[in-house]
Amino acid sequence: MGEYNPNEGETIVTDVLVVGGGPAGMVLGLALSINGVDVTVLESSATSSRSFRGESISPDSVFTLRSLGVFDQLPAASHMSVDGLRIVDSGNPVLSLRFEELRADSELPTEVPQDVLLDAMVAAADHNRLRLVRSATVSELVRTAGRISGVRYRRDGAIHEVRSRVVVAADGRYGTTAAMASLPSRRKPMQRDFLWVKVTAPDTWDRSCYQVHMKADSHVMCIPTVPDLVRLGVNIPPGGLREIRASGLSALHAKIGKLVPELADTVAEQVGSWRDTSVLDIFTSYTPRWSTPGLVAIGDAAHTLSPVLAQGVNHAILDGVVLADLLPAALTHPTDISVDDACRRLQEIREPSVEIARSLQMRQEMAFAQRGVVGEFGRRSIYRAIGNSAFLKKRIWGSIYYSLLNSDNVTRHAVDRLAARRAGETSSV
Ligand SMILES: Cc1cc2nc3c(=O)[nH]c(=O)nc-3n(C[C@H](O)[C@H](O)[C@H](O)COP(=O)(O)OP(=O)(O)OC[C@H]3O[C@@H](n4cnc5c(N)ncnc54)[C@H](O)[C@@H]3O)c2cc1C
Repeated sequence: MGEYNPNEGETIVTDVLVVGGGPAGMVLGLALSINGVDVTVLESSATSSRSFRGESISPDSVFTLRSLGVFDQLPAASHMSVDGLRIVDSGNPVLSLRFEELRADSELPTEVPQDVLLDAMVAAADHNRLRLVRSATVSELVRTAGRISGVRYRRDGAIHEVRSRVVVAADGRYGTTAAMASLPSRRKPMQRDFLWVKVTAPDTWDRSCYQVHMKADSHVMCIPTVPDLVRLGVNIPPGGLREIRASGLSALHAKIGKLVPELADTVAEQVGSWRDTSVLDIFTSYTPRWSTPGLVAIGDAAHTLSPVLAQGVNHAILDGVVLADLLPAALTHPTDISVDDACRRLQEIREPSVEIARSLQMRQEMAFAQRGVVGEFGRRSIYRAIGNSAFLKKRIWGSIYYSLLNSDNVTRHAVDRLAARRAGETSSV
């Protein structure tokens, strides 16, 4: 199967139907295929191609993707590891860490363009089990006896249907599938939006680490990007695109140049049009209930996070592997555990770790928003105190980036079982 073109009028019948082929949906498709489950992914785009999306993969996800064989499918020059993080406030370094300080001999955060990653996930899947239908936009849920039992989708101007035992809403931050299933979420806007640009990194730029350059309540996040680029996320007021455009491109150049003087010339040379920029409206969303009979939401569709610390892709991937671990037993022995119980269990397992990430992000968001002598002094003092304490660094960043290394972690067990299944060793797990 793999990439699949349904015939005219064909109704697909599948065990698990996934709406959305982003990181959450594709990793779920891959992991279910490894676990021998018939799975169909409907993706509205015609290709994986996408720009200015999550490209930073957290160490926990690097470990997971390696275990599922995804790294074997990535072209060698398509990804790069990042060794550390540096925060500079008003031109002065206030915090610096190397990831090996958090966990020696472990995975490092990795930068990989999202389209390359998604294609590698498809390549790593068992194509006897995974059916990926592109250019397929889900528009309606199908219900049978009060339970969600499939979807209708548009493709090539026609409406098609899929029948399934469970529908997974993995359609991202703007997805509507969970709302169609009456799983409302609360959206919380942040105090800023982001304008993204990508430029070639000058030879003198340190591409081995993430950098945040801030002054008062302005900041630029600098993220090394393959092949030789750095992507810059510049904060703008919420909904402030029109205002910033009215000030002209040179005002944007000046803002970045003031915060990161080392990149001023490069940005002025290479960002020549608003078409070279992309805006991300930053919000988080909280969905009290991730599931309802016949349907469960994962990834951004269940919990949109802020881009701070690049945790969106990470939690999307971890949701996918845990659900893929829970569903096979429920589909095979529904009298022991029902599909709906398995979907509820997903939230019990995953939500605490999503909330830890969200709470750290919120504290960072508050730090970014400080302005004035007292607020900025307090921020610098906190960063310096953390930077000078191995304990605090491990406690704060270790809990976000290296949670899977605790051997009692339920998510870690799900990853290990999948890795063993992939290696054909299920009997020994
Ligand atoms: C500009 C930007 C930069 C970011 N940077 C980072 C980063 O560096 N690191 C990080 O971890 N996170 C980052 N994020 C967040 C990250 O991209 C998301 O958290 C992550 O992609 C979520 O994965 P997902 O699969 O849940 O949703 P998505 O990646 O949004 O995927 C959802 C998929 O569903 C499809 N879809 C939507 N509606 C339908 C429908 N009706 N029918 C069929 N298909 C549908 C969409 O086409 C899409 O492919 C960034 C986000 C943005 C926008």
